[in-house]
Formats: sequence, C-alpha cells, structure tokens
Amino acid sequence: MSEAPTVTTRVQTHCPYCALQCGMSLTADGPVGDGAGVGNGVDARITSGSPRTGVRVGPRDFPVNQGRLCRKGWTAAELLDSPERLTTPLVRAGRRQPLRPTDWDTALDLVADRITRIQADHGPDGVAVFGGGGLTNEKAYSLGKFARVALRTRNIDYNGRFCMSSAAAAAIRAFGIDRGLPFPVGDIAGADAVLLVGGNLAETMPPIMSYFRPRALMVADPRRTATAAQASLHLAVTPGTDLALALGLLHIAILEQHVDESYIAERTTGYDTVRATAMAYWPQRVERITGVPVAQQYAVVARLAAANRAMILTARGAEQHSKGTDTATGFINLALALGLPGRPGSGYGTITGQGNGQGGREHGQKADQLPGYRRLDDPLAREHVATVWGVDPDSLPQPGPSGYELLDQLGTDAGPKALLLFASNPVVSAPRSRHVADRLASLDLLVVADFVLSETAELADVVLPTTQWAEEHGTMTNLEGRVIRRRAALAPPPGVRDDLRILHGLASRLGHGERFATDPETVFEELRRASAGGPADYSGISYPRIEAEDGVFWPCPDPEHPGTPRLFPERFATPDGRARFIPVDFRPVAEDVDTRYPLYLTTGRVLAQYQSGAQTRRIRQLTEVAPESYLELHPDLAERLGVADGDPVTVTSRRGTVTVPARISHDIRPDTVFMPFHWEGANRLTNPALDPTSRMPEFKVCAVHVSAAQRRALRADDSCVEVS
Ligand code: SF4
Repeated sequence: MSEAPTVTTRVQTHCPYCALQCGMSLTADGPVGDGAGVGNGVDARITSGSPRTGVRVGPRDFPVNQGRLCRKGWTAAELLDSPERLTTPLVRAGRRQPLRPTDWDTALDLVADRITRIQADHGPDGVAVFGGGGLTNEKAYSLGKFARVALRTRNIDYNGRFCMSSAAAAAIRAFGIDRGLPFPVGDIAGADAVLLVGGNLAETMPPIMSYFRPRALMVADPRRTATAAQASLHLAVTPGTDLALALGLLHIAILEQHVDESYIAERTTGYDTVRATAMAYWPQRVERITGVPVAQQYAVVARLAAANRAMILTARGAEQHSKGTDTATGFINLALALGLPGRPGSGYGTITGQGNGQGGREHGQKADQLPGYRRLDDPLAREHVATVWGVDPDSLPQPGPSGYELLDQLGTDAGPKALLLFASNPVVSAPRSRHVADRLASLDLLVVADFVLSETAELADVVLPTTQWAEEHGTMTNLEGRVIRRRAALAPPPGVRDDLRILHGLASRLGHGERFATDPETVFEELRRASAGGPADYSGISYPRIEAEDGVFWPCPDPEHPGTPRLFPERFATPDGRARFIPVDFRPVAEDVDTRYPLYLTTGRVLAQYQSGAQTRRIRQLTEVAPESYLELHPDLAERLGVADGDPVTVTSRRGTVTVPARISHDIRPDTVFMPFHWEGANRLTNPALDPTSRMPEFKVCAVHVSAAQRRALRADDSCVEVS
C-alpha cells in the first residue's frame, strides 16, 4: 500500500497566550486529504483526522516581538496533540454520573432543550453566559450577540472583569476612551524614565523587556521580582497602598514645581480638586503608609520630571484591588500633572494581560456593553447595534451583574439556573474559588466549551470540545490596540468544533440560526458595521488590510484611514477634548492584617505558566520548570515559623486553607507572602471585595495566617491540599 502524499503548511500567526501577541510562524506536516472537516474559515490543507505530527513554532518578523518568544510561546504547539485533548462532546446523565462521550447533535439538542425549559420556568435571565479574554474578536462579538439576541438574557460577563476592568474604568473617566497602551510598545524604548507599578513583565511577557532601558526603569512592587531586579530603582511598596504612593508623588511634584502648568491649562480640567487632596500626602506620611522611603519618592519624581520622554505604566498589581480604579486614576493624575499623556514618546498606559484582553473588552461580552465599546444603556448605541443585528432595540436586555456578582448568584433563588461558559476556568481563577465552585455545582445546567477538561469543565453537565489557536482563523487586538490576524495552520481533530460553529448550532436550535455566521471573516465584517462610530471603531479594518499591513491600530473609522498608533496628540476622547483630573483619596485594603491573620498575601504569575494553567499545566516542558504552587516568604518570617525551604506550610484566610511548599526568598517583604495563581489554591484564599466602579475583586491583597504543616499534608500529585 503506498503512503499518502504529505504536505507542509506554513502560516504566519501569533502566540495563543498573552496580550503581547508575539508574531510566530507555524509549520505543520501531514497527509493531503480531501478537506473533510475543513471549514469555518480553516483553509489548512492538512485534513481533519490526519496524524498531525511535529507542528513547529518558529520566529517571524513582527514589529512587537521582533522574532523573540518566551518559553510559553516556543512550547505552545505541544498541546495540539495532547492526550488530554477533548475530541468529542461529553454529557453527564445525572448529577452523580460520570461524563460520557456523545455526538454533537445529541449534546446540542440537550443543551437547547434544557435552555428552553429553564427559560420557560425562570424567564430569559434564568440562563447566563460567561466568556473569556482569550476569545478572538469574532467569538467575543458573537457570544455577546448570542446572549442578547438568542437568549435575551442580561446575565453575561467574562473573565476580563478580573483583569482589565479597573484600568479601563480609570482611562474612560480620564481620557474618554480605554486603549491599554495609547502608543506602540516601540515608544517605550525611547523613554528616559518609566515608572511601572505592579507589573512583572520579565515573567509575564519577557520579550517586552527588550524595550525598557534598565537605567530608565523604576518598579513599584511588594516583591523584588525579575522585573524589579532589572530596574534601576525598586520601590518595595506595602500591598494595597499604591494609591497613597501616587498621591505622595503628586505632592512632591507640586512642591518641587515639576507640574506642567501650561499643559494643565490647555489640555485638562479639574486639577484644583486633585491638588488639594495630594497636599495631604506629605512624604513622611506616605513613607509610613507605603513603606517607600522619602528619598526614593523624591528620586522617582525628579527622574520623571527631568526626562525628555517619560511614561507611567500600571498593571494588575496596582489594579486588582477594591480601589483599583482609584489607584489607576491616581497614577493618571500624576501623569497629567507632569504633562505626559499625548506628548510624543510619553504618556500613561496599562499593560493588558490576556491574549485578547483588549479586543475582548470592546465587542460586547461585558455586562454593560455593546460592540465597539458602546454602552448597553445608551439608547443611540442600542438602536445602532440593533439595526445591524436586525432586531428591535427594545428587545435588547439592559446591563446585568458583573463577573463575580454573576458567579455568586448562580443557582440561588433569584439567580440564573444555567450557565454557558467559554474559554474560562473560574474554579481556579475566581476569587473565593471554593464558593464559586459550590455555586457552579448548584446549577441545573452547566455547559463548558473548552479543549481540555479544566477544573471547571469537570463540574459540567455538558462539555463541548473546541478548537485551539493553530486550528482557527480570526482577529485579536493586542495590548497596543493593534488588530492582528490569527491564522490556522491545520484543521482541528475530528469531533472538535470552533466556538462560532457551536454558537450557530445552539442559535439554530433556539430559532435564531440565520443571525449567526460561522465564517470568521463574515463575522468580522458584521463587527465592523456594529463598531462603526463607537469608541473602538473597527469599521475601516478588514482582513485583507490586516494581511497587507500586519496589523491595524484602532480607531480606524474608514478604509482610507491609516489607523491610530498614537492617541491624544491634540485632543482627548472627551466631549471637550480635555483630559479630566479625577479626585481620588487613599483608603485601606478591604481586609487588613490583624492578630489572627497577621500577614498580607499577594498573588501573581510565574514565567512558565499562564492564567489558570489549564493549558500550560499540560505542557511537559513548562511543568518541568514550574511543576507546582508554592508560598514565597522572607527568611525572617520562615525562621519565626520554624520553616525551611521546601517544607509544607499551611496558609489560611477567612475563606479557606491550603498547604503548599515554602520557597524562602530575600526578594519579598517580611510582612508579605506570595503565591502564584496558576494552580487551584491561591484563589481559595483571595478576597472577593469589589471595586465600587469597576467591580474588580481584591485579588492582590488579603490577610492570612501561615504555619508550618506536617509533611504528609503534601501529596505528590497535588501540591495544594485542603487540610481543614
Ligand atoms: Fe506568547 Fe506572551 Fe510569551 Fe509572547 S510573551 S511568546 S505572546 S506568552
């Protein structure tokens, strides 16, 4: 028997993980087939069902990463043919029954039938939807439309609520628009002074570090992270006090006459009220609150003020707090006082985390939002989008609850009875995660679309196997607002469908199939029209244009428009064109330390894992480097506890207890411990106290008690073990 001819497919695409969206090439070999299973925009010639050996990741010339990739990117292809890959729908016959394979028609019929019955009993809001910041723009758009048009439910939000919502809220109220970086990352290389607050980019997105000049970089972080170690100045700020630091730095800028009075007069409003609050944060008081020495406070301001080009950047360390919006606002106020936003090579920005964290927050999977970053409670926005969708504006639901509030209401008397969940793993990533798992378990119907059996999928009644990044087309929007193309290198395995096709299948069964396209480019064309005239205007962007230009920056309101790499050169996106100083004042963390819980817990990432770890914990080359969770603590604290490196320690907060190995380090404050959040455990401890504006939970600080544990508390297969 002669062997089937083989073909090599090579595509230029982007990494599946973080918001840097590094350009990469993918090379795949496989037998030439008849194209069976290829569709939905997948034009790869390697057929569905081919033995898909040796998908290779390579560098390519893309302006953001310039050929560099981090360890996560290099190893991303390993998951494509993982034995843990889901390749058939799974259905549970009853609560205590195991998940069993079934066919797609049976699974989708079951889901549609249960949705219909639940909505008949409990109304449209009886069914909820939860999305993810890793979904392509087309999927995020379609998911929001599916919720509003096919389900007519107000209950939709997504995991980006836990990521970018505070910075987004701060930017909108100050600048009138939320684009994480209002300038290309390349501009960072020209900055003489950069203050980065609460970001560990050397581990989360290492290629971006090539843009930072070590002498220019100043980092505020409770830990001496890999990023802080590369900086010329590290401010070891007490967890939850970044806002006091921002106010104190503004105080010094005023005292030292570094404030740009003409910029404030010409380009801003509201300075006087902000100035009055800042005057109450003199350096010695700020040192007492934050732990940052007075001399360091002066040094930061002097360097920002003296620089020709200066930037202030925030990330989740400053933003994932119950006052995250005000903290980001505090640093925006400082940047405005120094005259930075809109000045060439200078400005304020936030570092977006998830792969499509930018696009995912623009196109309607957020509780209060319609595509193009329009507001769901704006009558004109409702009319515009309803016209594109061919529905009555009055049929669109009003805004629903935010991410954590939605999860908290699941299965309650007044809450949703069913949840459709895409590209998210809240059993690991939500705060107070044990409670969230209980709420998920109380539902009448939990449907999870994923490509592996995540901790959340394990609880589902129906699991729908989805495509991975290398098997699908679409667009993503990176941390600079650059809209880029994801391209398929090969067809998915048999039995796997992409989310657009899943949504179409469900919509068809609910009587709305004709409104939902399965081809990504067709969906993008509709997204363009829906976004036209909105803050995030994509109407001038098309697939051919992205191909030709290797990315287009929004806003781009018509095909002749060049796109907008740099925002605010002359005016801000506010009605009067001026940026708004917003008065903010410091307040303590929602849960401060006390005698029972005397230590601050902060959480974050490690280089070799990503988000909830559902993907990266299944990649051998990454788990060899980062195999398990741990608790980082200072040697002085370890000595007090009688703990040596590697010993098990039990960490307890008001919400839960976990036991993990100790990792002793001089790089953390003695009053603070750190745990990475890629494993189930860290978020059993975290506090769901919400920011009043953004509804962001206080992931980054809570009070804990730590003690030495018995060695038997650690199991070989699971480093996070409930011991009480
Ligand atoms: Fe992928 Fe981010 Fe690493 Fe780039 S930095 S390779 S986008 S995970």
